[in-house]
Amino acid sequence: MKKVAILGSTGSIGVNCLDVISQFPKKFSVAGLSAYNNVDLLESQAKRFKPAFVALQTKNVLSLRRRLNNGIKILDLEKISEIFYYKDIDIIVLGISGGAALIPLWEAVKAGKTIALANKEAFVMAGSLIMDLAKKTSAKIIPVDSEQSAIFQCLNGQDVKTLNKIYLTASGGSLKSVPKERFSRLSVDDVLKHPRWKMGRKITVDCATLMNKGLEIIEAMWLFNVGAKSIEVVIHKEAIIHSMVEFVDGTILAQLGITDMRLPIQYALTYPERLSSNLSQIDFYKLKQLSFERPNLNKFPCLALAYTAAKDCGTSPCVLNAANEISVKAFLDGRIKFNKIPHIIEQVLSKHKRIINPSLEEIILSDKWAREEAESLITTYK
Ligand code: MG
Repeated sequence: MKKVAILGSTGSIGVNCLDVISQFPKKFSVAGLSAYNNVDLLESQAKRFKPAFVALQTKNVLSLRRRLNNGIKILDLEKISEIFYYKDIDIIVLGISGGAALIPLWEAVKAGKTIALANKEAFVMAGSLIMDLAKKTSAKIIPVDSEQSAIFQCLNGQDVKTLNKIYLTASGGSLKSVPKERFSRLSVDDVLKHPRWKMGRKITVDCATLMNKGLEIIEAMWLFNVGAKSIEVVIHKEAIIHSMVEFVDGTILAQLGITDMRLPIQYALTYPERLSSNLSQIDFYKLKQLSFERPNLNKFPCLALAYTAAKDCGTSPCVLNAANEISVKAFLDGRIKFNKIPHIIEQVLSKHKRIINPSLEEIILSDKWAREEAESLITTYK
């Protein structure tokens, strides 16, 4: 029986993760849950899965305590790091969205835990330091992101030294066939119509700008220890191949599956085992063909910005991520137009004085600086 703690249990990853866990009552139990402010859903999850603890924002702790009186420990989210030293947690699912996951991720790695990593922002910010720390503490990071899970599965049992190239596939997002001229007039709803995946709002906007793929380039770079030059983005609108790896002899291994996050979540939870699943399967005869296109960097400048940040390394990925988070939020809040997102990121990056081998403190400071810079630019766009 694996005991699973889910950080971010009320988000898209958390909900799917609990769905997977409920399919295997003999294999998994829920050790703990955390959420930011969705008290109602957290309450019903806690009543159903009976974890040893739940954690949430300070201001909601009291109200949940009144509603849950069945011996479940209720923690303040600020003290979440305490749980990483609980012996009865076998795997931590990190489903918190955004840079807010950096400290929890860092602390979980420091405690030498096994982490099913669904958050990409924190890893983009400090992936190099996190991988170094993981080596020292023997923490294991198992990717949940469908592309990274695909690469992880393709590399399983292979000598990484024989890896030539990674093909990172992208569905193309909601704006693949929308002309660039319309970008300044797009509503939030237009952008949130993702053709393949059902996910949270922030990541769906990132898919539309292709920044999501940019963040994944950086994520893959740290996870699999490859340079940005060896990672090629391929637009594959069917989203059936979740990524591919090419070896030195020209052989390519690909991982294929339906577009359902429960698939990579299940693999991360059961790894190194594979369990049967009740999800639907690919029907090749209905599918008939798979297509591949080059990404249009002129139409989607966020991807070009991410490639540059990936090559520059140091604090650049962290600044790219921070400026992106702030501008995406401003777009979702109706404060800026969609086409301003890459402008803001580009301007913040151009003002940034890069630190080549940053410490965690320098990363946190660069993140703060970039958020403030992006905010002050946004006020000029009104
Ligand atoms: Mg992905």
